[in-house]
Amino acid sequence: MGGDVMTIYLDNNATTALAAEVRDAMMPHLFGEFANPSSPHSAGMAARRAVSEAKAQVAALIGAKPADLVMTGSATEATHAATLGALRVIEETDHRRDHIVTTAVEHPATLALFDDLRQRGWRVTILPVNRDGLPSLVDLAAAVTEATALVSMMWANNETGVLMPVEGASAIAHAHGALFHSDAVQAAGRVPVDCGIADYLTLSAHKMHGPKGVGALYVRKGAPFHALIHGHQERRRRGGTENVPGIVGFGAAASLASLWLDEADLIAFLRDRLEQGILARWPGAVVNGAGAARLPNTSNIRFADGRGHPVDAEELLMRLDRAGIAVSMGAACSSGGNEPSHVLTAMGLSDAQAAASLRFSLSRYTTAAEVDAVLSELPALHARLVAA
Ligand code: PLP
Repeated sequence: MGGDVMTIYLDNNATTALAAEVRDAMMPHLFGEFANPSSPHSAGMAARRAVSEAKAQVAALIGAKPADLVMTGSATEATHAATLGALRVIEETDHRRDHIVTTAVEHPATLALFDDLRQRGWRVTILPVNRDGLPSLVDLAAAVTEATALVSMMWANNETGVLMPVEGASAIAHAHGALFHSDAVQAAGRVPVDCGIADYLTLSAHKMHGPKGVGALYVRKGAPFHALIHGHQERRRRGGTENVPGIVGFGAAASLASLWLDEADLIAFLRDRLEQGILARWPGAVVNGAGAARLPNTSNIRFADGRGHPVDAEELLMRLDRAGIAVSMGAACSSGGNEPSHVLTAMGLSDAQAAASLRFSLSRYTTAAEVDAVLSELPALHARLVAA
């Protein structure tokens, strides 16, 4: 998978391979069936039906109704649409509410947006997290008041896989009349996600073996929403001609993900085998977020030398890459930059400890042979990095 050089792909939280079933579902809409779903002729109506069926498949993954979904060009867009769409209505209808809350470990899609909102006059609370990457609901309950408009908390963290206390957070927000948004990008298709607790949920196709450039936003019926992009499509909630192949691909991916949810134990088994295997072969290695419930596919490991000093994970990443194994340092978007992971430093790791951490993220396609191949590389890498 992934070309000539890369043979073992353990970076599935950055993105996943397109499933063959998804490709097959998309193909007719890439070639041949190209009509605009807004066109009144039969070909247009067929495209409209394909979009509707795909939305029903995505909706089924989170227990929603197709009419509650707004298809977008990414999860980043969906998060912006939810947040800005909700706050625009609150601004106009409830002047007392000038406060928004999120956590220190959100994806940059949320953190950068909240930073922008702060500059535009919103009072922003960023909840800290503990050593395991969990925000405290006691802190949240102390922060949320009748002046709070929105609480945004991711369902699962993309760097550590830590599952966040979204149910409790939603209850606290709602007890004060505030809205609740969750970025469920990493959780959907990996653990059960029920839209019932949220006013807004954000999803992305490319994290579940669907195509890139397609996201979805769940908006609870009756939740305040003002379109970010104007136009007649998506019931006037998101303008722009629908990405028919992409949306059909998202539908197919969501259907597969629903089936594969039953096999989460298998992925967890392989992840645990990898994790335990690494810990056994690398004395001093530690799992970041080990004390929290985590996604079944993710392991974020901090590597140390024999004296407990952090090693340079970038060098480890490069050496793994040369051995045909793709992993990452934190989020894909922060890899390549020299900034330490904001998630790991929020968990109390030093910059050096954060820079000594690698994320391994598995998928439905990861095999035991691949896990064992990674483990077989480790003793030599340990000798090179630690003994060097
Ligand atoms: N939220 C989380 C938790 C993510 O991991 C990602 C992707 O890395 C996103 C949001 C952004 O998704 P998209 O690439 O669809 O904009």
